[in-house]
Amino acid sequence: MNDTAQTPLASALPAEIIARFVAIVGREHALTDPEQQLPYLREWRDKYEGRSTLVLRPGTTDEVSRIMRLAHDLNLAVVPQAGNTGLVGGQISHNGEIVVSIARLNRVRHVDPAGTSMTVEAGLTLAEVQAAAEKAGRLFPLSLPSEGSCRIGGNLGTNAGGIGVLAYGNTRQLVLGLEVVLADGRVWDGLKALKKDNTGYDLKDLFVGSEGTLGIITAAVLKLFPRPAEKITAFVSMPRIENALEMFSLASDDAGPALTAFEFIHRYPLDIVLRNMPGTRDPFNTQYPWYVLLEISGLKADGAAQTIMERVLEQAAEKSLIIDATIASSLTQARDFWKLREAVSEAQKGEGGVIKHDISVAVSRIPEFVHKANALVERLCPGARPIALGHFGDGNVHYNVAQPLDMAKEDFLVRWDEIMEAVHRLAADMDGSISAEHGIGYMKRDELTRFKSEVELDLMRRIKTALDPKNILNPGKVV
Ligand code: FAD
Ligand code: ZN
Repeated sequence: MNDTAQTPLASALPAEIIARFVAIVGREHALTDPEQQLPYLREWRDKYEGRSTLVLRPGTTDEVSRIMRLAHDLNLAVVPQAGNTGLVGGQISHNGEIVVSIARLNRVRHVDPAGTSMTVEAGLTLAEVQAAAEKAGRLFPLSLPSEGSCRIGGNLGTNAGGIGVLAYGNTRQLVLGLEVVLADGRVWDGLKALKKDNTGYDLKDLFVGSEGTLGIITAAVLKLFPRPAEKITAFVSMPRIENALEMFSLASDDAGPALTAFEFIHRYPLDIVLRNMPGTRDPFNTQYPWYVLLEISGLKADGAAQTIMERVLEQAAEKSLIIDATIASSLTQARDFWKLREAVSEAQKGEGGVIKHDISVAVSRIPEFVHKANALVERLCPGARPIALGHFGDGNVHYNVAQPLDMAKEDFLVRWDEIMEAVHRLAADMDGSISAEHGIGYMKRDELTRFKSEVELDLMRRIKTALDPKNILNPGKVV
């Protein structure tokens, strides 16, 4: 699929066409001033900066629909954007497309605590969605470090993962129905709150994870869950990453679905956080090679989660899987443990050039992947420093690589594609994925063609053509 070659750029839009979009959203919500546009064009890492002469901020599904009808008639490309926290450049107008921000679609339409579902518009931030569920005495379990800024439409668009996947699944598993504006402006009302619906192709699953290339999600019916009354968090250290695998098995067997998080982190990323993030503190007095952060939850505040946690740690110690362990004694301490894990993205900024990967392999192969990747990186770029951490229980490794200390940042970053392709090749050779949770977007579009089979690519392109024959929805992304 070509990108915007055939579609006129917004920067070339005549004033009378801009006026037609202004008529839909109002002057105040059609941004043409570069300064006002900046938050929609530049992403938080400053890796990509888009360009556009028109950023639209519709306030209703009907306005989104009218925007798309007009864009379709005029053959104009648009980039759907939610919270602009995406990590693969999917939300950026690289070629001067019109940016359609859904941030103003921010109403909670309906909450059904008994039916454990909630209908929300796509522009609510993830934190606002969580708060609305909490107000109804329920849990919406999707949780990402970016939850204060990312929006549920973006989470659906990327099929976001995060730290709740082990117990509750990806965003895909948390949605019952969708409302979507199609490329030609028609609205698909699929806002059903059904747990069972076997009436042909599951259309919502096409849109979840399609990164704005098949339609613009304007609302969703989300699944809600009971709120745990008890959460016990422990930070443990271990000599080898293999110990994490054995410990995961042990904790899963004992806790079952009560095991709600199992994250791993190497000493180096922990060092980065301790060095660069004010207010963080090493939970131990000694440095260890590997750490696991695990959480066990209970629906009742009856101490059962604490008992399971103590039993798991005891067994792990008996088997010499862990060196040291500490259970958070307060909510504040639990939050401090989580901060050590979640602040890595931000703390890495202090390490010069960092090449990032978001791969997955079978959980049982994580240790093998990390050892092989470390050897590979050392061979390709001696002295480069692997930053290994991730969602162990999901088989998801955020395998980042920081520049060698004696190398200039630019000299390292020009090797991004070479190192990324080698790490991706390793994951693929191990039957893994080159993108576990961040998506493909702009960054990995060409990579995708190297790692998906011809059959898969053909099916994806046909779906894209069927839903967006003029290629006006996020062209140049994913396929
Ligand atoms: P945007 O960045 O605005 O858009 C992302 C993609 O979705 C784009 O392709 C866009 O076109 C498309 N899109 C946006 N809105 C819609 C819509 N309404 N309909 C259809 N498509 C749409 N991600 C994880 O999965 N797990 C993590 O743990 C995680 N941690 C992060 C930590 C930090 C510090 C940061 C900055 C990011 C992290 N991310 C993580 C990535 C990011 O937060 C997620 O991808 C998030 O789901 C993007 O949401 P957004 O609202 O910012 O979407
Ligand atoms: Zn992650």
